[in-house]
Amino acid sequence: MEAPAYRTFAVEVSRVQRLCPSFVRITFSGDDLVGFGACGADQRIKVVLPAPGTTAGQLLETCRSWGQDWYPRWLAAPEPARPLLRTYTVRAARPSRGEVDVDFVLHGTSGSHAGASGPASRWAAAAVAGDRLVVVGPDRPGQGRAWGREWAPPPGGRLLLVGDETAVPAVCAVLEALEPEAAQRTVALLEVPCEQDALQPVASGGAQLRWLPRRGPRGEAQHGALLVGAVRSLLAGQHPAPSLDPGAEDDVDLDLLWDVPEAVSSGDLYAWVAGEAGVVRDVRRLVKAAGLPRASLAAMGYWRAGRTEAA
Ligand SMILES: Cc1cc2nc3c(=O)[nH]c(=O)nc-3n(C[C@H](O)[C@H](O)[C@H](O)COP(=O)(O)OP(=O)(O)OC[C@H]3O[C@@H](n4cnc5c(N)ncnc54)[C@H](O)[C@@H]3O)c2cc1C
Repeated sequence: MEAPAYRTFAVEVSRVQRLCPSFVRITFSGDDLVGFGACGADQRIKVVLPAPGTTAGQLLETCRSWGQDWYPRWLAAPEPARPLLRTYTVRAARPSRGEVDVDFVLHGTSGSHAGASGPASRWAAAAVAGDRLVVVGPDRPGQGRAWGREWAPPPGGRLLLVGDETAVPAVCAVLEALEPEAAQRTVALLEVPCEQDALQPVASGGAQLRWLPRRGPRGEAQHGALLVGAVRSLLAGQHPAPSLDPGAEDDVDLDLLWDVPEAVSSGDLYAWVAGEAGVVRDVRRLVKAAGLPRASLAAMGYWRAGRTEAA
């Protein structure tokens, strides 16, 4: 299958749904999106936001002038005027109706990262129907990594999905698309800010989905602590017992923590891990210490504490 070209799509917000305290679902619509190349699972796209001090109208004009050459033109744009790019998951796509849903985390409002808001999160918190924006994605339907999809489990074996709130859209989309037989051998662990965030309806089709709310009656857990604990318990009893030995192999560069096998090996377990880069590193270390080969593990830093998304 020929790889798609990536291009800009001019979109308008047609629906805003507050799903729970930490998530807002935004439906992007537009005739342009009829040509969007949806591929399901954890497919990622770029959301393009106006540079500080510029308007959505100027953004649309700029992106229109880029044409197919959007990336070099974006790179070449002088810094303060360069539109902002952020990465998001396609929670659902209905190309025939020209619609794409994206679930935005409203971060920075509380917890250990209180105050760490960002332009995309702020934009989503204030979005109303009629707002205009640009997304970047593939220009034709297809399947696989060229479409921004990393979920690629081998046939058979247990499936483990681990993520913080930024991975919730991807994990929910994956669970909803699983065949019932595959769902039976799937466990998903999702850490979210609070209990109400755990009430999102997900058709998990028989998969074991465990929500881990950080904020509870006894206070608030550190970001990632519940995930790491849950993964450790899940793997307990496996040989060798997983540990978080700081001396163990792992001086990975957190900025570039994107460790996805080229070819997935078939085996007893396939693990998909995404979220804050330091947490993903810790989970990855545990899973590897339990003997999982690298080719059965996809580990992706979706964001990094204290750092704005670079691209
Ligand atoms: C493949 C992929 C798929 C993704 N899918 C989604 C998705 O569907 N929904 C979603 O909400 N996010 C998703 N993300 C994460 C999202 O891209 C980042 O959270 C992004 O940094 C948000 O941009 P911003 O402008 O709000 O904040 P930025 O300007 O990038 O960052 C500003 C500050 O906020 C902090 N920050 C960023 N994100 C968070 C967070 N979640 N919690 C606490 N502090 C944070 C940063 O550390 C920084 O200090 C995805 C990332 C990747 C790589």
